[in-house]
Amino acid sequence: MAKSDIMTIDNILNKASQYLTEEDAAFIRKAYEFAEKAHADQFRKSGEPYIIHPVQVAGILTELGMDAETITGGFLHDVVEDTDVTLEAIEEVFNHEVAMLVDGVTKLGKIKYKSKEAQQAENHRKMFVAMAKDIRVILIKLADRLHNMRTLKHLPPNKQRRIANETLEIFAPLAHRLGISTIKWELEDIALRYLNPQQYYRIVQLMKQKREERESYIKEVIEEVSKQLKEMNIKAELSGRPKHLYSIYRKMVKQHKQFNEIYDLLAVRIIVNSIKDCYAVLGIIHTCWKPMPGRFKDYIAMPKPNLYQSLHTTVIGPKGDPLEVQIRTKEMHEIAEYGIAAHWAYKEGKRVNLDKQSFEEKLTWFREILEWQNDTHDAEEFMESLKVDLFSDMVYVFTPKGDVIELPSGSVPLDFAYKIHTEIGNKTIGAKVNGKMEPLDYKLKNGDIVEVMTSKHSYGPSQDWLKITQTSQAKNKIKQFFKKQRREENILKGKEAVDKEIRNLNLEPKEVLTQENLQRVYEKYNFSNADDMYAAVGYQGITAASIATRLTEKIRQTKEKQQELEQTIEEVKTDVKDKKDKKLNKRDIGVKVEGVDNLLVRLSKCCNPVPGDDIIGYITKGRGISVHRKDCPNVQTEEARERFLHVEWENNRTEQKQYHVDLEISGYDRRGLVNEVLQAINETKTNITYVNGRSDRNKMAFIQITILIHNTRHLRKIVERIKQITDVYTVKRTIQ
Ligand code: MN
Repeated sequence: MAKSDIMTIDNILNKASQYLTEEDAAFIRKAYEFAEKAHADQFRKSGEPYIIHPVQVAGILTELGMDAETITGGFLHDVVEDTDVTLEAIEEVFNHEVAMLVDGVTKLGKIKYKSKEAQQAENHRKMFVAMAKDIRVILIKLADRLHNMRTLKHLPPNKQRRIANETLEIFAPLAHRLGISTIKWELEDIALRYLNPQQYYRIVQLMKQKREERESYIKEVIEEVSKQLKEMNIKAELSGRPKHLYSIYRKMVKQHKQFNEIYDLLAVRIIVNSIKDCYAVLGIIHTCWKPMPGRFKDYIAMPKPNLYQSLHTTVIGPKGDPLEVQIRTKEMHEIAEYGIAAHWAYKEGKRVNLDKQSFEEKLTWFREILEWQNDTHDAEEFMESLKVDLFSDMVYVFTPKGDVIELPSGSVPLDFAYKIHTEIGNKTIGAKVNGKMEPLDYKLKNGDIVEVMTSKHSYGPSQDWLKITQTSQAKNKIKQFFKKQRREENILKGKEAVDKEIRNLNLEPKEVLTQENLQRVYEKYNFSNADDMYAAVGYQGITAASIATRLTEKIRQTKEKQQELEQTIEEVKTDVKDKKDKKLNKRDIGVKVEGVDNLLVRLSKCCNPVPGDDIIGYITKGRGISVHRKDCPNVQTEEARERFLHVEWENNRTEQKQYHVDLEISGYDRRGLVNEVLQAINETKTNITYVNGRSDRNKMAFIQITILIHNTRHLRKIVERIKQITDVYTVKRTIQ
């Protein structure tokens, strides 16, 4: 299938059923249906239905020959991030492992970070930690990234460049370290197209021009080699090796070479059945053509750290041009193409023979690196050092005894010392390289023999060492040393720094630093108490800013919530005021007083009677008659009874009038409760003149509300409506 082709669910199922059981195929079909439902109504930037993306991701994983759970993870990789579906739901419908895979590729929730970079770093860290537990996480992420790169043209140019850059910095090197070269090459080529389009298209053009020439030349070579192989009775598959653009580009840039100076433009790959045959073929090649000195590499005897195995040689070919030849077995070839993915891959009905030991070996370097990172609590720093450890080129140096030590390029003797042993690192006072004294910041080169000098009387590392060293292993051990040495000092320093950051967020440390809140945060960062956390800030194991961000996230949220509530109430109030000015304040209150006319009659403010209530008139001194509800506690005295006067509602007229009623609503204090109450009232077309809310320690919310209603029937309707709201416990009419 060509890379540009869109895969359908049927393509995937066809392909998968070549190596999966029926049960597994049903499992991934279910995942497809689940994802399609979850993403219904969503669209990609390209305008296509969103589901196309997860289907392609699952398709890429199927082409890698991955197991059912990983393919399922491919289908579901965006549902938690982009839809309402929860991880719990995935665990229930599928299983725990699938949920873990999806979680690993899901970005962190809505926590606010200081910057986009900080957020991105946190997301990456989360992914790497998940990946250390289950490497399949990264295979899903790589497939996701690959499809996003294939469809990058739909994004605006600045995003294209950012994503292409991140791909070159993190994902392509990661694919490389895991040996998945098919994905690595494609990621790099696409990234180059967006980062340096001019060079990209130039190389494409140059390759095209020379293609015919190249192909006929390769054909000639293949014919010649085949003839010889037949004579020796060796079975082999021969092919011209396609060269990917980015590696040509890099060679041109790094080695300052012209396009036609790059040897391996002309390359032949020979795949044979056994290791013995590999060397036999090498012999044949070297007798046919003259080998170029220094170009033979035996990666079979010494596999690359990513387990790549092959023989490489360059010879002066039939036309006098350099010709690169790669020789390997089928299994080596699988691993060369699919790397760690080969561990799961089924080819031609059976699993590729990547034994458990080499699989584990492949992961060791990765797990070690993550272990050294355990003390790095700051995500941005974590990513920075991970980049150094994972993705930089390596230098190989020797101990005086001749053991080879692998270090990231740019490493210094101190990195070497800490790699040998923590105590050697801590006691280092100098270093000899190739027998000569060199400063501690000397940059090691391939083949250097390094001898570290230590002293029992050394005071230990200096702060400068943190700047000189390159590996996170060394840095972490130096930090650990300081951590132990100056704990008290670091706690104080750390606390001050955190307080300062909290004030920068316009909050008071006192209100933020409750025992409960501190515990929540130090546990989140895997500290066992607050002092440890402060100490870590003190020795720069984590930044004060990230601690302060975490510490204040709840308070900031509550404040926002509070502001939101206040704003709603304010809006209602202004709205009400407008209406009140227009409509109310009429004298006519719709109450008839027996036998009397033109008397000053007003409705009492304590019990706010409304048409339908049993009412009584109460004669006040000099202020006319005030109308109360019959059951109003304010008129239940003997003395009051003497002043009672019979009053009644003017039934026919009350529909047009409005009366104030005070209600108190109690319920569970949750976000959105007040809004729902207000909305319910609004739906009955009832005006609100006052709202106030408070809540108590037991999460009880009390909402005081004054509304304008026509009569008791109207009131009952509203009360019933409010009672239907979830979490509302009681609705009471209040009397002052
Ligand atoms: Mn995606």
